[in-house]
Amino acid sequence: MSNDKSTPANAPSSNFLRGIIEHDLAAGTHVRPGLPQVITRFPPEPNGYLHVGHAKSICVNFGLARDFAGRCHLRFDDTNPEKEDTEYVDTIIDSVKWLGFDWKQSDAEHLYYASDYFEQLYTMAEYLIVNGHAYVDSQSAEDMQKNRGNFGTPGTNSPFRSRPAEESLALFRAMRAGQFKDGEHILRAKISEDAMASPNMNMRDPAIYRIRHAHHHRTGDAWCIYPMYDYTHPISDALENITHSLCTLEFQDHRPFYDWLLATLTPGGFFAQPVPRQFEFARLNVTYVVTSKRKLRQLVDQGIVSGWDDPRMPTIVGLRRRGYTPESIQLFCDRIGVSKADSWIDMSILEGALRDDLDPKAPRATAVLRPLKLIIDNFPEGESVECTSPVHPHFPERGVRTFPITRELWIEQDDFMEVPSKGYFRFFPPNGDTPGSRVRLRHGYVVECTGYDKDASGAVTAVHVTYFEDSKSGTEGSNNYKVKGNIHWVSAATALAAEVRLYDRLFTEAQPDAGGKDFLAALNPNALEVVNAYLEPGMSAAVADQRFQFERHGYFVADRIDSQPGKPVFNRVTTLKDSWAK
Ligand code: ATP
Ligand code: MG
Repeated sequence: MSNDKSTPANAPSSNFLRGIIEHDLAAGTHVRPGLPQVITRFPPEPNGYLHVGHAKSICVNFGLARDFAGRCHLRFDDTNPEKEDTEYVDTIIDSVKWLGFDWKQSDAEHLYYASDYFEQLYTMAEYLIVNGHAYVDSQSAEDMQKNRGNFGTPGTNSPFRSRPAEESLALFRAMRAGQFKDGEHILRAKISEDAMASPNMNMRDPAIYRIRHAHHHRTGDAWCIYPMYDYTHPISDALENITHSLCTLEFQDHRPFYDWLLATLTPGGFFAQPVPRQFEFARLNVTYVVTSKRKLRQLVDQGIVSGWDDPRMPTIVGLRRRGYTPESIQLFCDRIGVSKADSWIDMSILEGALRDDLDPKAPRATAVLRPLKLIIDNFPEGESVECTSPVHPHFPERGVRTFPITRELWIEQDDFMEVPSKGYFRFFPPNGDTPGSRVRLRHGYVVECTGYDKDASGAVTAVHVTYFEDSKSGTEGSNNYKVKGNIHWVSAATALAAEVRLYDRLFTEAQPDAGGKDFLAALNPNALEVVNAYLEPGMSAAVADQRFQFERHGYFVADRIDSQPGKPVFNRVTTLKDSWAK
């Protein structure tokens, strides 16, 4: 996959799902009174923070609904009481909104919880039992496991499979009434007489209800039986009149059960026709990150990162704090498209989308990282001359920034060498007959290096220069000076001291967890470097989440958590160029 810059930012990318929807629109498949013909849903389980993989699913589901004048539901798949929490519900709502999507429509707020369907799900389960499509199994967990068989071996019917429907019904009601312990009984679907021999393991009398004496974050202690995901999901889709139920490829083998369940419940008149259909697309894998919630949790729990929103995390909250824009993530999702083949997308595609989004937006600013003092010996003490620079070089209408040049400035340590290497055009001192380098102080004057100071340890503490008064940028005299170095700087008198956090990729290996590898072994020890910096004075007005291009360094954002008024902390969003390209 290459980063095809020729693709217009908002051109619909290759997306086979569009083809399916266009076909259904032409055929009138989902024409129903009062409903749009395209209704999708994004169904997260509230058991963790969303990551960049979920962002793809969000962009696919909400994006298609938007493009086809339909709607997309946000539905919490909250049927696992032990693992779920309202903390996760809140962050998921926040993240989807931040990405730029909305489940509100003129008619209603399309925010749903599978747990709101518990009563209906229960009624449908009784319907299945009464009609001979489900039974209560009372085997031990070990026997059930043993009797499932495996890929090459057919399973064995449970001895309880032929239990009369009335007996199953009575047991199921007793399960609901709390008369049994966890695991004592389970409700299973009976798809066909020989279902236990199905080559598809998901069709071998799948469990549809289990006993769990657990507190649920929304329904409290109202229930001690909970429906399984494979049972809940198709029914929730149908109750919400979803037209296209889009999910990742690992659910392909679950589709036969999805279709069977909805077809089997249809005569019960529980929901409108036609029932939703499931379509699968490839999940997103991005290089240099991990996107399993379990592994992300490990990074947080072991203190390897500062939290779910650490700017190195591929979570939505992490990307946001890092300085990603919603538009850059949407652009990324458009560029990678949707396919049916699992693949890895290079991190540089995501970073490329970010640069392309930020370049026209981000105002320019000067930041001196790892500062070194520069003294203009012939510049009068206490004097200051105003310099200007465009806010954005391509948009003169955005105006100019002004900052003073004074006798003492900050430059970067890297911009001075005691003994210059070949082709080094920045600051170096005179050496014998060779004069010191002549360099332009960007937007200021041309100066010539005359010497430098060192401390007892041999560290350079200051660089000395003299300036040419008639060389100021923007004046006629400036043309008389031809220099190869053009160095950025800030005035020591007015500079704003700031902490700058230089973030890089969290892992050094492209596929840190491929093939069951220990992903912690591939951590990048240089994924965060904190440096002191001096910024141009106007930066004291920077507010949290404001993004800038620090010239020569890349894109930076005022950290949304740690910045304080007049005292911003900056995160490096990304460098100007891809430094990881091979
Ligand atoms: P994880 O495996 O990290 O726990 P999950 O799939 O279990 O993720 P859910 O909350 O169930 O997390 O996911 C919500 C939706 O997001 C599902 O429809 C799922 O298919 C989709 N999704 C999750 N990960 C990805 C991914 N990497 N690429 C595309 N879609 C994804
Ligand atoms: Mg899941």
